[in-house]
Amino acid sequence: MGMVFCRGCAKQIHESALTCPGCGAAQAVVALAAQPDSRGSPWVAIVSLVLGIASALMLFDDSEWGHEEILGLGIFSFAGLVSGIISINKKKPGNGMAITGVVLSAIALMVSLGLSLD
Ligand SMILES: [Zn+2]
Repeated sequence: MGMVFCRGCAKQIHESALTCPGCGAAQAVVALAAQPDSRGSPWVAIVSLVLGIASALMLFDDSEWGHEEILGLGIFSFAGLVSGIISINKKKPGNGMAITGVVLSAIALMVSLGLSLD
């Protein structure tokens, strides 16, 4: 039977007591430390996926590729690639979305680089 001293009134209380039966003071915060840590929101992965899809859709645009379109595609796909890599590196939720975003963005980025060399 482990006994500890109350943080509030220094009376002996049972170690598993969350609050002191005498004065009501809250005791150790051990229970809080065991909570599963939330790894943040998956918004970085979502951004990557959206940018990746947007870049990939641009590839199917039949219209003439001007410098601005190629630059736009390059910026979109580069941003999608970077945000996807950040999401995966920081172990954010939504890994599947981030990987898809990285793959689509990488393809679009390579195409935009190829177009810019023409
Ligand atoms: Zn107490």
